[in-house]
Amino acid sequence: MIKRCTECKSYTLKDEHCSKKTVSPHPPKFSLEKEKKYGKYRRKGKL
Ligand SMILES: [Zn+2]
Repeated sequence: MIKRCTECKSYTLKDEHCSKKTVSPHPPKFSLEKEKKYGKYRRKGKL
């Protein structure tokens, strides 16, 4: 899975970059919020 370096903002497949731990570019928290938003819109559309 692709990761992102928070230091130089570049994408990498390594666990570390610039002597720092890389992070997932799409954290699960973000997708959960997105899902909530879409759920709201879906409800609105039904009404
Ligand atoms: Zn880096």
